[in-house]
Amino acid sequence: CGIVAYVGKKQAHPIVIKGLKRLEYRGYDSAGIALLNGDLNVYKKKGKVSDLEAFIEEKNLSSTIGIGHTRWATHGEPNDENAHPHFSGSGRLALIHNGIIENYSSLKQELENKGHQFVSETDSEVLIHFIEDIRENNDCSLEEAVRLALTKVVGAYAIVIMSKDDPDMLIAARKGSPLVIGLGQDEFFLASDATPIVEYTNEVVYVNDYEIAIIKDGNLKIKNTQDVPTTPYIQTLDMEL
Ligand code: GLU
Repeated sequence: CGIVAYVGKKQAHPIVIKGLKRLEYRGYDSAGIALLNGDLNVYKKKGKVSDLEAFIEEKNLSSTIGIGHTRWATHGEPNDENAHPHFSGSGRLALIHNGIIENYSSLKQELENKGHQFVSETDSEVLIHFIEDIRENNDCSLEEAVRLALTKVVGAYAIVIMSKDDPDMLIAARKGSPLVIGLGQDEFFLASDATPIVEYTNEVVYVNDYEIAIIKDGNLKIKNTQDVPTTPYIQTLDMEL
């Protein structure tokens, strides 16, 4: 139900956890975070963001990129496995998703026929497997695989994807679920609304339906699912903390 992500020069986990707390008002049943320090690590728990915080206390959290999620279960009961982020089949991609993938069960069936194994009951895990499957079959970039997948998906989503192979990249997209990007100094903040972002920057870009945002090596690029680039419209928010 809430999304927070960071990429930049600072440590990601305090920003992501604090951001998730700012989104707690939206309601949720589980929380999770993915961080990258050589390994792509996912930590997730049913319960409060403070339970997640206690769970990760002793872990190696060093990472300047991170994605975090609070879940409001729609497909699969609230438990640790169904919490986000979700891994792709290879474990090299992690995804957070708000919304519902309506055609997930036919996609899941197709993927299972190809040998994909799922560890959760969510629609969201199907999406990240689907993206990786497209990438492998078409030998294309992750950016292109995300785009192709989204042309086949029915439903609503705000997603953010992180890749073990690209430690400076976040790919995000939206249709029907809100997503805002905050532009900082050599850093980017993504969230479901501006509340986790305003303490860092007042320059934001609201992602529109059918748009994909690619943040890579300190640059933001936006295009739509038809592969047409769009110019990010930067708005300046009144700072109200
Ligand atoms: N449909 C997804 C799930 O059940 C995402 C729910 C949400 O928006 O938090 O895991």
